[in-house]
Amino acid sequence: MHELGILNALVHIIEGIVRDENLTEVEKIVIEVGELSGVVPRYIEECYPAAVYKTFMEKTALELIVVPGIVKCRGCGLVFNAAANDLHCPGCSGQDLEILGGNDMIVSEIVCR
Ligand SMILES: [Zn+2]
Repeated sequence: MHELGILNALVHIIEGIVRDENLTEVEKIVIEVGELSGVVPRYIEECYPAAVYKTFMEKTALELIVVPGIVKCRGCGLVFNAAANDLHCPGCSGQDLEILGGNDMIVSEIVCR
C-alpha cells in the first residue's frame, strides 16, 4: 500500500504552495483519482487522517473524485470504460489498448479560507 506515501508527498507539496502564496488555512482539497492510476481511492480515504495528523492540514476536508478509466481498443476501435483488473476489449477481447483517460491522480482544487 503506497497511498500513505503518496499522501505524505502531497501534504508537503501543498504546504509549499500555501507558504508561497502566504495562505494560512486550507479548508478543503479536491483530489481526482483515475481508475487506472494504480491508486486505490478507498485507501486514500483511509490513509488521509494519518497523513494529515499533526500537520497544517489536520482540519482540511478531503473530497475524492474517481475518474473513470477510458480505454480505446486498437483492434476494433471500441472506446470503453475499463477497470484496472479487467483490461480487455468487450467487443473483440483484444488486449492492445490505448488509455485515453483515468490513468493519473491530480489535485484539482485547493480551497483556502
Ligand atoms: Zn476491440
